[in-house]
Amino acid sequence: MSQPQVSMPLNDTPEQEELRSTVRALAKKYGYEYMAKKADDKEYPTELWKEAGELGFVGVNLPEEYGGGGAGLLELSIVQEELSSQGCGLLMLVVSPAICGSIIAAFGTPDQKQRWLPGIASGEFISAFGITEADAGTNSHNITTTAKKEGDEWVLNGQKTFISGVDQADAVLVVARAHDERTGKLKPALFMVPTDAEGFSKTQIPTEVMLPEWQYALHFDDVRLKDEDLVGDSDAGIFQLFVGLNPERIIATAMATGMSRYALDTAVKYANERVVWKTPIGAHQGLSHPLAQCRIELEQARLMCRNAAARFDQGDLDGAATAANMAKYAAGEVSAKSIDQAVQTLGGNGLTAEYGLARMYAASRLPRIAPVSREMLLNYVAQTVMGLPKSY
Ligand SMILES: Cc1cc2nc3c(=O)[nH]c(=O)nc-3n(C[C@H](O)[C@H](O)[C@H](O)COP(=O)(O)OP(=O)(O)OC[C@H]3O[C@@H](n4cnc5c(N)ncnc54)[C@H](O)[C@@H]3O)c2cc1C
Repeated sequence: MSQPQVSMPLNDTPEQEELRSTVRALAKKYGYEYMAKKADDKEYPTELWKEAGELGFVGVNLPEEYGGGGAGLLELSIVQEELSSQGCGLLMLVVSPAICGSIIAAFGTPDQKQRWLPGIASGEFISAFGITEADAGTNSHNITTTAKKEGDEWVLNGQKTFISGVDQADAVLVVARAHDERTGKLKPALFMVPTDAEGFSKTQIPTEVMLPEWQYALHFDDVRLKDEDLVGDSDAGIFQLFVGLNPERIIATAMATGMSRYALDTAVKYANERVVWKTPIGAHQGLSHPLAQCRIELEQARLMCRNAAARFDQGDLDGAATAANMAKYAAGEVSAKSIDQAVQTLGGNGLTAEYGLARMYAASRLPRIAPVSREMLLNYVAQTVMGLPKSY
């Protein structure tokens, strides 16, 4: 099968280099301690989010005519990785500009683009994303949130779980099953549901993940929506959804590679300074080799992320899907491994509050679980890329 031609420059262009260094400067101003305090105080990192929006980082991938930066996912992945490399990655970048912004930019009507994109780009309008349901889990074919047409309205009923950032969000892009009036069957459809809509309620889910973005269970009880809240074409919901899930995976990958960089930088600095025999502990190969392995695997994941983003930006959607799944897998593995090895490198200090590494354990495991688990990524590669049979 012929592959679309995609160019993947291995180095940053001068504009990307400039973007990377200005984002890093912002990230250094806030850093890990700011984020940890926000998580402890159960506060959203509003100052960082606002400043990132004002500097054009939040909407860097969105079209210029709707207030975005006119660049692509590669640039958004640079923003996320640099923030995360200083300990202050923003989970809502994965959701608002990456998933919701990409879907609306690609499939929204001109009115919908005008209504939502400028706010998403500036960060003043935050859109959460809701697909996961308690009884469906990984098997999203089993979701039961349903939208029924009544006159000129859609009536939404159902529930979602683990939805991030709903307390900060103005709307949630909800994946529902809509009644098709022609066939009488249910088909996937995407609705922008305002968080202040009547019948919309949320309950916080306590987690041990040290992130200042919280997860919520959502309940939709006869939430009334208009046709203009249905995003794009009601016959193309599944295709639109998949277009949005690839950016989600790519920007989650960038968050994970940034986290891995943060852990390895902390470990290397410590291993160069700490002496307990006659050389710094980093001279012992028992420590340096696993760190070097993480560094190699980090480089693999970063290149895979770049590949996926370049494919998406250049319209190779099939190639981007495979590349995004593989990149997310690689990044999930290296983020968990890097935090673990960094903790080991610091010895007792790996578990102290001062260094904060142990607190990152749950967050470092997150990319192995969400937005799609490592097992489902391996299933995808086994079945779709390699042609192996399915067990489920
Ligand atoms: C911090 C956090 C933030 C999140 N944010 C959002 C959000 O904003 N929006 C949203 O919609 N969701 C969100 N999620 C949900 C997340 O996407 C799901 O948790 C994830 O997709 C896994 O689903 P599950 O937890 O139901 O696991 P389950 O489906 O119950 O799976 C449990 C385990 O079984 C494995 N498994 C299941 N089926 C198979 C199979 N066929 N083969 C092999 N193994 C299998 C899984 O890989 C996993 O290891 C978030 C989750 C967390 C923890």
